Amino acid sequence: MKTVLMFAFMVVLMASCALPDKTAADKPRELKILTRAGWGANPPVAEMKAHKISHITIHHTATLQKPERSLADKMKALQTFSQNPGTLGNGKAKPAWPDVPYHFYMDCHGEIAEGRDANFVGDTNTAYDPTGHLLVVLEGNFEEETPTEPQLAALRKLLASKMAQYHVTPEMIGSHKDFAETLCPGKNLHELVHALIKQAGKD
Ligand SMILES: [Zn+2]
Repeated sequence: MKTVLMFAFMVVLMASCALPDKTAADKPRELKILTRAGWGANPPVAEMKAHKISHITIHHTATLQKPERSLADKMKALQTFSQNPGTLGNGKAKPAWPDVPYHFYMDCHGEIAEGRDANFVGDTNTAYDPTGHLLVVLEGNFEEETPTEPQLAALRKLLASKMAQYHVTPEMIGSHKDFAETLCPGKNLHELVHALIKQAGKD
Protein backbone atom coordinates (compact mmCIF):
# COMPACT_ATOMS: atom_id res chain seq x y z
CA MET A 1 0.00 0.00 0.00
CA LYS A 2 2.81 2.30 0.98
CA THR A 3 4.55 1.60 -2.33
CA VAL A 4 1.40 2.37 -4.29
CA LEU A 5 0.98 5.66 -2.45
CA MET A 6 4.61 6.57 -3.04
CA PHE A 7 4.23 5.73 -6.71
CA ALA A 8 1.10 7.89 -7.00
CA PHE A 9 2.92 10.74 -5.28
CA MET A 10 5.81 10.46 -7.74
CA VAL A 11 3.45 10.49 -10.70
CA VAL A 12 1.89 13.71 -9.38
CA LEU A 13 5.36 15.18 -8.89
CA MET A 14 6.45 14.24 -12.41
CA ALA A 15 3.23 15.60 -13.87
CA SER A 16 3.75 18.94 -12.16
CA CYS A 17 7.29 19.10 -13.51
CA ALA A 18 5.95 18.58 -17.01
CA LEU A 19 3.55 21.51 -16.76
CA PRO A 20 4.75 24.35 -18.97
CA ASP A 21 6.18 27.19 -16.92
CA LYS A 22 6.11 30.81 -18.06
CA THR A 23 9.51 30.61 -19.75
CA ALA A 24 8.57 27.52 -21.73
CA ALA A 25 5.36 29.19 -22.90
CA ASP A 26 7.40 32.14 -24.18
CA LYS A 27 9.52 29.85 -26.36
CA PRO A 28 8.46 29.61 -29.98
CA ARG A 29 7.01 26.27 -31.00
CA GLU A 30 9.17 23.78 -32.92
CA LEU A 31 12.14 26.10 -32.83
CA LYS A 32 15.44 25.20 -31.29
CA ILE A 33 16.83 28.36 -29.81
CA LEU A 34 20.14 28.83 -28.04
CA THR A 35 19.13 30.66 -24.88
CA ARG A 36 21.07 33.49 -23.26
CA ALA A 37 22.14 31.06 -20.55
CA GLY A 38 23.20 28.64 -23.31
CA TRP A 39 25.62 31.11 -24.88
CA GLY A 40 26.78 32.53 -21.57
CA ALA A 41 25.26 36.01 -21.83
CA ASN A 42 26.26 38.69 -19.37
CA PRO A 43 23.40 40.65 -17.83
CA PRO A 44 22.45 43.98 -19.47
CA VAL A 45 24.81 46.77 -18.36
CA ALA A 46 22.21 49.54 -18.28
CA GLU A 47 18.47 49.91 -17.84
CA MET A 48 16.29 49.08 -20.83
CA LYS A 49 12.85 50.36 -21.85
CA ALA A 50 9.97 47.88 -21.76
CA HIS A 51 7.68 47.66 -24.81
CA LYS A 52 5.01 45.54 -26.47
CA ILE A 53 5.88 43.91 -29.81
CA SER A 54 3.80 45.14 -32.76
CA HIS A 55 6.34 44.94 -35.63
CA ILE A 56 9.11 42.61 -36.78
CA THR A 57 12.20 44.08 -38.46
CA ILE A 58 14.87 42.08 -40.31
CA HIS A 59 18.56 43.07 -40.25
CA HIS A 60 21.92 41.77 -41.39
CA THR A 61 25.09 41.85 -39.31
CA ALA A 62 26.85 43.58 -42.25
CA THR A 63 29.88 41.36 -41.59
CA LEU A 64 30.88 38.37 -43.73
CA GLN A 65 29.65 34.95 -42.59
CA LYS A 66 32.03 32.85 -40.50
CA PRO A 67 30.82 29.25 -40.81
CA GLU A 68 33.64 27.86 -38.64
CA ARG A 69 32.86 29.98 -35.60
CA SER A 70 30.32 28.74 -33.05
CA LEU A 71 27.04 30.58 -32.48
CA ALA A 72 27.86 30.99 -28.78
CA ASP A 73 31.19 32.64 -29.69
CA LYS A 74 29.48 35.00 -32.11
CA MET A 75 26.89 35.99 -29.51
CA LYS A 76 29.53 36.65 -26.88
CA ALA A 77 31.55 38.77 -29.32
CA LEU A 78 28.43 40.69 -30.36
CA GLN A 79 27.58 41.34 -26.73
CA THR A 80 31.07 42.61 -25.93
CA PHE A 81 30.92 44.91 -28.98
CA SER A 82 27.40 46.07 -28.04
CA GLN A 83 28.07 46.82 -24.39
CA ASN A 84 31.09 49.04 -25.14
CA PRO A 85 31.47 52.31 -27.04
CA GLY A 86 32.94 51.64 -30.47
CA THR A 87 32.97 52.37 -34.18
CA LEU A 88 30.57 50.90 -36.73
CA GLY A 89 31.57 49.58 -40.16
CA ASN A 90 30.58 52.92 -41.74
CA GLY A 91 32.92 54.81 -39.39
CA LYS A 92 30.10 56.16 -37.21
CA ALA A 93 30.68 56.07 -33.46
CA LYS A 94 28.32 53.94 -31.41
CA PRO A 95 27.60 54.40 -27.71
CA ALA A 96 27.65 51.52 -25.21
CA TRP A 97 24.29 49.75 -25.40
CA PRO A 98 22.75 47.89 -22.45
CA ASP A 99 22.87 44.60 -24.35
CA VAL A 100 22.99 43.15 -27.87
CA PRO A 101 20.72 45.34 -30.02
CA TYR A 102 18.73 42.46 -31.59
CA HIS A 103 16.23 40.07 -30.02
CA PHE A 104 17.10 37.08 -32.23
CA TYR A 105 20.27 36.15 -34.15
CA MET A 106 20.40 33.61 -36.96
CA ASP A 107 23.80 32.28 -38.01
CA CYS A 108 24.75 30.98 -41.47
CA HIS A 109 23.84 27.40 -40.42
CA GLY A 110 20.30 28.50 -39.60
CA GLU A 111 20.87 28.18 -35.86
CA ILE A 112 19.01 30.73 -33.78
CA ALA A 113 20.14 32.44 -30.58
CA GLU A 114 18.21 34.56 -28.14
CA GLY A 115 19.57 38.10 -28.00
CA ARG A 116 18.10 40.93 -25.95
CA ASP A 117 15.03 40.03 -23.91
CA ALA A 118 12.14 40.67 -26.36
CA ASN A 119 10.22 42.54 -23.65
CA PHE A 120 12.69 45.43 -23.98
CA VAL A 121 13.32 47.86 -26.85
CA GLY A 122 16.36 47.09 -29.01
CA ASP A 123 19.02 49.54 -30.15
CA THR A 124 19.90 51.16 -33.45
CA ASN A 125 22.24 53.76 -34.90
CA THR A 126 19.75 54.78 -37.56
CA ALA A 127 16.90 57.27 -37.43
CA TYR A 128 13.91 55.17 -36.50
CA ASP A 129 12.37 54.33 -33.18
CA PRO A 130 12.66 50.56 -32.63
CA THR A 131 10.03 50.65 -29.87
CA GLY A 132 7.55 47.85 -30.56
CA HIS A 133 9.88 46.19 -33.07
CA LEU A 134 11.12 42.65 -32.64
CA LEU A 135 14.62 42.90 -34.13
CA VAL A 136 15.84 39.82 -35.98
CA VAL A 137 19.34 39.72 -37.45
CA LEU A 138 20.85 37.31 -39.96
CA GLU A 139 24.60 36.73 -40.04
CA GLY A 140 26.16 38.05 -43.23
CA ASN A 141 26.72 41.06 -45.43
CA PHE A 142 23.89 40.71 -47.90
CA GLU A 143 25.12 43.52 -50.10
CA GLU A 144 27.82 40.96 -51.03
CA GLU A 145 26.61 37.56 -49.83
CA THR A 146 23.36 35.64 -50.18
CA PRO A 147 21.54 34.18 -47.16
CA THR A 148 21.95 30.40 -46.89
CA GLU A 149 19.01 28.02 -47.34
CA PRO A 150 19.07 26.93 -43.66
CA GLN A 151 19.10 30.61 -42.66
CA LEU A 152 16.02 31.35 -44.75
CA ALA A 153 14.25 28.23 -43.48
CA ALA A 154 14.97 29.32 -39.90
CA LEU A 155 13.76 32.85 -40.65
CA ARG A 156 10.51 31.47 -42.08
CA LYS A 157 9.93 29.40 -38.93
CA LEU A 158 10.85 32.22 -36.58
CA LEU A 159 8.55 34.65 -38.40
CA ALA A 160 5.63 32.22 -38.28
CA SER A 161 6.17 31.58 -34.61
CA LYS A 162 6.60 35.25 -33.62
CA MET A 163 3.69 36.44 -35.78
CA ALA A 164 1.47 34.00 -33.88
CA GLN A 165 2.94 34.84 -30.48
CA TYR A 166 2.65 38.63 -30.86
CA HIS A 167 -0.29 38.80 -33.31
CA VAL A 168 1.86 40.55 -35.91
CA THR A 169 0.33 40.75 -39.40
CA PRO A 170 2.46 40.63 -42.61
CA GLU A 171 1.96 44.41 -43.05
CA MET A 172 3.83 44.98 -39.78
CA ILE A 173 6.97 43.12 -40.92
CA GLY A 174 9.75 44.75 -42.90
CA SER A 175 13.43 45.12 -43.61
CA HIS A 176 15.39 47.68 -41.64
CA LYS A 177 15.52 49.83 -44.80
CA ASP A 178 11.72 49.93 -44.89
CA PHE A 179 11.90 51.94 -41.66
CA ALA A 180 15.15 53.93 -41.86
CA GLU A 181 17.75 55.17 -44.29
CA THR A 182 20.25 52.32 -44.34
CA LEU A 183 21.58 49.57 -46.60
CA CYS A 184 20.55 47.03 -43.95
CA PRO A 185 19.68 44.17 -44.49
CA GLY A 186 21.51 44.29 -47.83
CA LYS A 187 19.91 44.09 -51.27
CA ASN A 188 20.18 40.28 -51.47
CA LEU A 189 18.17 39.79 -48.29
CA HIS A 190 15.78 42.73 -48.68
CA GLU A 191 14.00 41.21 -51.69
CA LEU A 192 13.86 37.77 -50.09
CA VAL A 193 12.32 39.28 -46.95
CA HIS A 194 9.49 40.72 -49.00
CA ALA A 195 8.91 37.39 -50.74
CA LEU A 196 8.83 35.70 -47.32
CA ILE A 197 6.37 38.26 -45.94
CA LYS A 198 4.02 37.68 -48.87
CA GLN A 199 4.28 33.94 -48.23
CA ALA A 200 3.78 34.41 -44.48
CA GLY A 201 0.47 36.11 -45.17
CA LYS A 202 -0.77 33.03 -47.02
CA ASP A 203 0.47 30.35 -44.57
ZN1 LIG B 1 19.61 46.87 -39.51
